[in-house]
Amino acid sequence: MNPEQIAANKDAFGIAGQVAVVTGASSGLGRASAISLGGGGAKVVVNHLPASAVAAAEVCREIEGLGGEAVAYAADVSDEDQVAAMFADSVARFGTLHILVNNTGIQDGAKFQDMTLAQWQKVIDVNLTGMFLCSRAAIREFLRRGPQPEVSRATGKIICMSSVHQVIPWAFEANYAASKGGVHMLMQSLAQEFATHKIRVNAVAPGAIRTRINRSVWETEEAMRNLLDLVPYARIGEPADIGHAVLWLASDLSDYMNATTMFVDGGMSAYPAFRGAG
Ligand code: NAD
Repeated sequence: MNPEQIAANKDAFGIAGQVAVVTGASSGLGRASAISLGGGGAKVVVNHLPASAVAAAEVCREIEGLGGEAVAYAADVSDEDQVAAMFADSVARFGTLHILVNNTGIQDGAKFQDMTLAQWQKVIDVNLTGMFLCSRAAIREFLRRGPQPEVSRATGKIICMSSVHQVIPWAFEANYAASKGGVHMLMQSLAQEFATHKIRVNAVAPGAIRTRINRSVWETEEAMRNLLDLVPYARIGEPADIGHAVLWLASDLSDYMNATTMFVDGGMSAYPAFRGAG
């Protein structure tokens, strides 16, 4: 579905009027998630780094063009004070919060023997601590506000952007793979802890999706051929593939899903190297 089709069918998703924070939403999968949710009628806080203000404003304009409401908010998700201010300002503006998409993530790989502590720490800070800080802020608001069954069967929904590398080890990217393994256990522990409050916490684990984070694996024909060896479905993923998964996980259509990771990877996590080798 393109964003216009989502907007034309927004009643099917039942998220119209709900408030969503999407982190790292000025590009890639965060942008696609924000546009899917905005098309579905959610009021979207488009989190971004200060350097990405122009791109974030463009995402807001796209959402407004779909008839939705959006506001850009610059904050570093690994900074406790900036995260607290972003959630406080979002709640002040829109009244409450219903959906958090913990999307932000970075890569900074190296041969392990050459990896600096700064490289290790930065990736863990942004990919894992950022999700801790944003999830904590969201859960505090969900608990404060309590259930709103006329709005959603769940008191709140958190969707964490993980990766196939929460299960597939990744040489030269040990910090990234460790962060995504951590995201998996953070997601499941929160889901377990808050299920009785009707707060659902799930993850999306993308495979190879065409964004700037992994440009090197798709920008040349040879790189793309090598990549497709790893993808049984034989195509690269597009950001909208992830936006659709996020939209579904944010809606009551997935109300009985909790503590689950949805792999959106064309089969990449199904050991493709074993095709025909049995
Ligand atoms: P991307 O680089 O386009 O998106 C990352 C976004 O996070 C950028 O907009 C960036 O400005 C923002 N960001 C970085 N540091 C931040 C910080 N400290 N605070 C706030 N925002 C910050 O790449 P993407 O592919 O869209 O990645 C999004 C998520 O998807 C990441 O968590 C990534 O690990 C995950 N992922 C991507 C793929 C893929 O194939 N593209 C595969 C698996 C997982």
